[in-house]
Amino acid sequence: MNNKYDVVVIGAGPAGYVAAIRCAQLGMRVACIDEWINEAGHPSLGGTCLNVGCIPSKTLLDSSHYYHHIAHQAADHGILVADVTIDVAGMQKRKSKVVKLLTKGIEGLFKKNKIAQIHGSGSLLGGKKVRATPLKGSGTSAIELEAEHIIIATGSEPITLPQASIDGSSIVDSTGALEFETVPRNLGVIGAGVIGLELGSVWNRLGSKVIILEALSEFLPAVDRDIAKDALQVFKKQGLDIRLGSKLTHTQLGDQTIRVDYEDAKGKHSVEVDKLIIAVGRRPYTKGLTTHDTGLKLDERGFVQIDEHWQTNLEGVYAIGDVVGGPMLAHKGSEEGIAVAEHLAGQAGHVNYDTIPWIVYTWPEIAWVGRTEQQLKAEGTACRTGIFPFMAIGRARAAGETTGRVKIIGDAKTDRILGVHILGPQASELIAEAVTAMECDASTEDLARTVHAHPTLSEAMHEAALAVDNRAIHI
Ligand code: FAD
Ligand code: NAD
Repeated sequence: MNNKYDVVVIGAGPAGYVAAIRCAQLGMRVACIDEWINEAGHPSLGGTCLNVGCIPSKTLLDSSHYYHHIAHQAADHGILVADVTIDVAGMQKRKSKVVKLLTKGIEGLFKKNKIAQIHGSGSLLGGKKVRATPLKGSGTSAIELEAEHIIIATGSEPITLPQASIDGSSIVDSTGALEFETVPRNLGVIGAGVIGLELGSVWNRLGSKVIILEALSEFLPAVDRDIAKDALQVFKKQGLDIRLGSKLTHTQLGDQTIRVDYEDAKGKHSVEVDKLIIAVGRRPYTKGLTTHDTGLKLDERGFVQIDEHWQTNLEGVYAIGDVVGGPMLAHKGSEEGIAVAEHLAGQAGHVNYDTIPWIVYTWPEIAWVGRTEQQLKAEGTACRTGIFPFMAIGRARAAGETTGRVKIIGDAKTDRILGVHILGPQASELIAEAVTAMECDASTEDLARTVHAHPTLSEAMHEAALAVDNRAIHI
């Protein structure tokens, strides 16, 4: 076997597999090493995102949304369904099917693009060499690969807490929280971030009583305050018992339940739950990669340090995705994968970090791009805002999905769009218009003059743009 490649990618998550495909499209000979093993004990491409992240979580979010909708909202539409019950095993089986289909799809794309798929743990050996060590018991031996360029895309892993060690059954991380076989009666979640809200919502919709303890006193600090305030109210109304300013101090496993001790401004408290999800963020994953002392520079938090072209301090070694920091989002990693491949091919690969959309897939969804009004004020940028509620949108009324609003922020001098923030139905899809507009340096006037089809939810974007100049029509 010829083990010389133009590019060796370590990690086949959305950053690494996309980089591998784009490099192959550009005529490079590519190998991709990945160590992921799925629950059936087989190698599985796609990394965190496809195996235990974006895809399984959205599958459960969709399933639980349908269940909740049928059980609680169908009657509003005149649809009477008797005895709606939940089959958690069936829901989980469907989730696994979706994951398998998509991860197999990447295998197919690797074959189509003639990318060598190597299963094992990749470690840098120094120079332009990488070792791929297969898992113990696989019956194969380690191989050494040589490459002109190496791309590190080893991703991230959940942060753990000393007060609550993960046992995989009672106290779980996000991966365990996707695997529950029954609906917990009382579910505790530590961290009211993206994972806490999304997975808390899944089990809340299916009937769990959910308590979320959040250390910060501010809810979703990265989100525009108007939108975060609305969202907190809506989630509380849905039954998510979100307790801000609550610091976990201790957990105690009992026979059937877990005692969770925490402190807030009022003092010490305890709650009993059946399951506890720890969702307090993720950290870069470089285990295995740096088993040999190659001098790869990491920052104080363990992220691989890179320059503006994603190159590490080692010549010919690049890094992308969660392992380099910035937003830990699949689409951010994939864009870096495309850009670094194009850079290696001598093209002008580029990522616009100012227009990366964020989405929290609760219902209603939260989506945003660009700056918040609070950030702009703190920076001293004068801005104008337009806000429009879904309540006044015909299509939202027709669907019975009237919660939330769109907020558009424009520069007071130039009218350039600086941020768009949405709480509402299909916010995850609506935000794409804002991203495109910002990518094209559009003004709020451009959006206001763009024809939006009627009746659609996107009319809320149009009306919010009109509202920047106090000329919204339907309010
Ligand atoms: P990863 O996806 O983590 O992939 C890294 C790969 O590298 C893995 O396959 C791993 O096995 C492999 N690897 C690591 N070290 C080695 C080594 N030494 N040798 C060989 N292989 C190695 N993001 C979104 O944008 N949208 C969402 O809806 C979303 N939902 C999420 C839900 C959950 C529950 C979680 C946990 C995350 C979610 N994310 C979401 C975040 C998203 O999953 C990550 O941002 C994304 O997967 C990062 O991609 P990556 O390629 O950098 O790393
Ligand atoms: P997060 O950073 O979104 O939220 C973690 C929360 O935990 C924060 O609010 C933090 O203040 C809180 N926290 C930290 N320590 C705590 C403690 N000791 N006690 C109580 N609260 C504590 O992280 P996450 O929800 O774990 O998700 C990790 C990352 O995965 C996200 O930042 C995101 O990048 C990615 N992700 C994205 C999506 C999406 O795009 N829809 C979905 C899931 C995950």
